[in-house]
This record gives sequence, C-alpha cells and structure tokens, in this order.
Amino acid sequence: MCGTENGVASQAPNGTHPPPNPNAATAPYHGVEDHLSNVGRYKIIESTLREGEQFANAFFTTEQKIKIATMLSDFGVDYLELTSPVSSPQSYEDCKTICKLGLKAKVLTHVRCNMEDAKKAVECGVDGVDLVIGTSSFLRQYSHGKSMAMIQTTAIEVIEYVKSKGVEVRFSSEDSFRSDLVDLLTLYKAVDKAGVNRVGVADTVGGATPRMTYDLIRTLRGVVGCDIETHFHDDTGCAVGNAISALEAGATHVDTSVLGIGERNGITPLGAMMARMVVSAPEYTKTKYNLKMLKDIEEYVASCVQVNIPFNNPITGATAFTHKAGIHAKAILANPSTYEIIDPSLFGINRYVSITSRLTGWNAVKSRVVQLGYELTDDQIKEVTAKIKQMADIRPLAIDDTDSIIHAYNMNLREEKGI
Ligand SMILES: [Zn+2]
Repeated sequence: MCGTENGVASQAPNGTHPPPNPNAATAPYHGVEDHLSNVGRYKIIESTLREGEQFANAFFTTEQKIKIATMLSDFGVDYLELTSPVSSPQSYEDCKTICKLGLKAKVLTHVRCNMEDAKKAVECGVDGVDLVIGTSSFLRQYSHGKSMAMIQTTAIEVIEYVKSKGVEVRFSSEDSFRSDLVDLLTLYKAVDKAGVNRVGVADTVGGATPRMTYDLIRTLRGVVGCDIETHFHDDTGCAVGNAISALEAGATHVDTSVLGIGERNGITPLGAMMARMVVSAPEYTKTKYNLKMLKDIEEYVASCVQVNIPFNNPITGATAFTHKAGIHAKAILANPSTYEIIDPSLFGINRYVSITSRLTGWNAVKSRVVQLGYELTDDQIKEVTAKIKQMADIRPLAIDDTDSIIHAYNMNLREEKGI
C-alpha cells in the first residue's frame, strides 16, 4: 500500500516534523563533526550516465541521456560523469552534446589513463577528465600488465597534458582496497604533487566495510592535499555506509547513480545517499538539493532501464513511510518524529497510516474518519475499529473495504437516529 499513488495519498496525515530538541545532547544520533569530517559540505559526482550505463539493462538513447543529465543538474548535483567518448562513436557524440547543454553541473568523462583517451576527452569539451587505472595486483597482472613505476610515469604525463588544456583532472586507482597501501600512497602523493584536482578511491568489488574505508581515507587525507573522491560498489550492502564513513574521514566527493544502477548490483544510490545526508547534514542537504525532484528522477531512470523501484527503497519505496501497527500509528499521528527519522514532505511525499489490518488501532481509524468527513465519538470509532479488525482477521483488506465498513457503520447510526 503506497501513500503516494492511486489516490491513497489524500487519506495520509501529513504533519511535518517538529524542530529537533535542542537539549538532546545525549541523543545516539550525534554526528561526527571533527576537523576531518566533510559531512557538512560533501559533493556528489553523479555517474548514472557512466557507471549506470554499465548496468545490465541500461541502453540510454541520446534523448534519454539529455533528460537524465538535465534533471540531475537541476536536482543540484555538482558533477555529471559520462561514459568514455572512446567507447563508441555515439558515446563520443553524446558526450559533446551534453557538454553543449550549458548545464549548471560540471561535466566529466571517465577514461583510461593514457594519452589517446585523454585527448579524445578534452576534444569533447568536458569540464573535467576522470582518469582511472587498476592498481591491485589482480588488475596489474590480469588486466593491463603494468608496473607501479610505469603507471606513475604515464599518469603524470597524462595529468600534465589535461591540465595544460585548462581542464580539471582526477586520478583514480581501480580496486584501491586490494592494492598495496604503500604503492597506493606513493602514487597518490606523486599525482597530488603533479597538481590533480582530486584523487579517487574505488571499492571496485564492493568488499570494503565502513571501518576499512575510514582507515584508508584517513590515512590518505594525511598524505595528499587535493580533494578525495570515493566510489563504492554495493556487493556486500555497505555502499552508503562506506560513503558516509569516507566523508567522516575527510573525503570530499561521493560517486552515486540513480537507484544505484551500475556493474553487478551497482554503487551508492543517489536516493539512499540523500536519505542518509538529509539526516547527517540537514541544512546543507535541504538548501543545496531540489529534494522534491528525487521521485521523478528515480521513476524516469527506472522506466529507462525497465526496473521497478524496490518496495524498501529509502524515501521512494512504496512502504518507506507506511505505518501499520496501532501503537506506531497513534504516536505518528501525535508527532511524526516518533517513528520517522526523515520528514517525507521534504521530498514531496506523503506518509500513509495503514488502517486495513488486524494491527490497526483506533487512533488511525479516527484520523481516517475525520478525513472522510464523518462525525463519530471515540466510543463509536472504537466500535468501528473492532469491526475492521474482525474482518481483517478473515481476509486481507484494501482501503476501499475499510472505508465501506466505516461508511456502513455511519449509515446504521444515522438510520437508528432517523436522520
Ligand atoms: Zn564502479
């Protein structure tokens, strides 16, 4: 049952959350705001049009790419990352087309760390080039076969070329967490000295935990002065947790894609990241992002790649703001903060208090009775609640069924009174 579709929204009580209690010094949700943390000023690099294009179902037409890029830029992301123009002639044309749109978000493209790819990227008119090369022993042995010394020499040559064209440059290792730490730090230090805007850390196989992430980023923060971009795959379900840990440890940028689409089961989802950040950095997130666009963006991308939005998706999942148990419903109706960490109205979404189950409480039914415009006493509402529970013990009910029970009860009363 969803409170945002099929007209069900109209029955949802939608009180906004009261301001947080200023005296809640002992609250367990205290954020980390030390000198390392960038939680309050994080930046998003939106990679639906790069990582997302690697999703099994993805095939974006030029028109779809333009629409996705425009929506994401209007949403407020800092950067859009596009597929390498070297991938195919159409990718090259699309990259040029998106660069010419004049979007607020800066346009990046993600290429292999070699001169030919970098030249092609610069040719497209991008604001920045994201260079990537595998540094783990797996990738060095089985993918490109280069030594760390060779990687460093090429990287510096390419970085200097991109910079000479007045274009931003990021250098990222692939599979960073399975690379030798000393090798990795030596390389990052060298590219930082060569003047990169950002270094990138990628958990390419999705095996990192928030603790591993914190340790690596914190160490790296002590070695480089440039920005730190992070990229987390979600194979073990830690992509959002790792992203916030990275920010706490001093990373500046997080890669996301809409609904998390990407290789395998994808990366940190934009929506889930917003859910996290609207709690961790409420003022910054509410001011910087057009949060009410999230649902439309997710629905559009979901339709492009022919998937459904999962029922348990943060914020936009069908049940994300549905309250069922009677005891919850009573508290939610009195003060929504009781059982909600996020105010759905920030995202233009309504909460839904279910009154169709055997767990329904009379407070929730009362709220529905008021919405339907009936005037019943509390005792009468308790009576009609008992009827709903009786029926719900027999079979699953839809909202129409409970409305009919309330309606019939009200009719009986009127007949008894002879109205
Ligand atoms: Zn990736």
